[in-house]
Amino acid sequence: MNSPFRGFHHVDPSKTPRIIARGDGAFMIDVDGNRYLDFLGAWGPLVLGHRHPEVTAAITQALADGWVFGTSTEIEQKMAEAVRQALPSMEMVRFVNSGAEAVQACVRLARAASRREVIVKLEGGYHGHVESLDMADPLDRPNAALSGSVKALVDRTLTVPFGDASALEVLLAERARDIAAVIVEPVPGSMGVIVPHEGYLRALREITRKHDVLLIFDEVLTGFRVAYGGAQQIWGVDPDITALGKAVGGGLPCGAYGGKRAVMERVAPVGPMYQAGTFSGNPLSMRAGLATLEVLRRPGTYERLGALTRRLCDGFERVAAAHGVAMRAPSVGGMFGMLFTAQPVRNLDDFKRCDDPAFARFFFAMLDQGFYFPPSQSDAAAVSTAHTEADIDATIEAASRALATAVAAR
Ligand code: PMP
Repeated sequence: MNSPFRGFHHVDPSKTPRIIARGDGAFMIDVDGNRYLDFLGAWGPLVLGHRHPEVTAAITQALADGWVFGTSTEIEQKMAEAVRQALPSMEMVRFVNSGAEAVQACVRLARAASRREVIVKLEGGYHGHVESLDMADPLDRPNAALSGSVKALVDRTLTVPFGDASALEVLLAERARDIAAVIVEPVPGSMGVIVPHEGYLRALREITRKHDVLLIFDEVLTGFRVAYGGAQQIWGVDPDITALGKAVGGGLPCGAYGGKRAVMERVAPVGPMYQAGTFSGNPLSMRAGLATLEVLRRPGTYERLGALTRRLCDGFERVAAAHGVAMRAPSVGGMFGMLFTAQPVRNLDDFKRCDDPAFARFFFAMLDQGFYFPPSQSDAAAVSTAHTEADIDATIEAASRALATAVAAR
């Protein structure tokens, strides 16, 4: 496999992962012809589901015109304008090819703009396989020797718990002169789904501003999924730099980073921070992304997506309670978690108390009934605009059976 989380090793290493052949709206079909209602959403990109007709038409047009030139194109300009309208904090935008690439550029940009080297991340935050942010150690402590990262870089990364603004305040009061940026997933999506408590994200903005430290929002997962303008729109925060990925390319490989003009003008060729890419802003991804954004910005899209997701999560919690299973299903917009725990999950420590065997039994009981979720409790699941209320209700009924037979019974 080409990315580790595609395997079933978190739920049962002895089971063979499904090999998917086709996608169809809200469904995936495997090579054996089994059909699954898709709550993986390709790990985030498929906000419109598989093969949305308007995205298909846009990609078909790009195929007719040619798919890579290595020059500037009109479509990337239109796409940059669309992103800027969606997320006004991104006054200037550059496109790359993945979320990890976008984050890596954000970190480099923060270092170039501040002339400082230390990066602060939130414990349990996932930002892609970025050298100085990828904490492979289960306690989320930098472990360069095991992960293959460069120790000197990992040593320049500090962590504080998610949700604890005073821990960040204490750290910045001591170390701000060394710190280039604080990077945060505004809705963490790799320790379940954590809904930030009211005021937390704004507190991060105030503390970083007070100590003159750049604030990076990693909206790779949340961008165009929780709201058209991302988590920064919902919680009214104005970060200095934002990373996008996943949904921004409409399902084709794409990432983007951008921010305040004064910061972005450090990027070459205007400024000295080198960042480049042969496939950056490629016409296929730009056309698919622009077509996706045009559909997503239609009135009512996020109200419907959020309502569908809440209907599902409320249903999960209702049937879990009926079967005496401790399960929580937090959601924001079209992203949600399924956490087998009685306690609210507010940070990495809370997440570690979740019951993995219970999740694994639930996962397989759902898979057997034709419902595909991320094969790990840690990862955010996704609802798309292709899902219907009937799909959601069928999922809740299946979950009730799964909880009764596979989870509560143990
Ligand atoms: N940031 C976040 C918040 C993510 O969830 C991910 C991927 N799950 C990434 C960055 C990395 O994106 P990609 O896998 O496209 O490189």
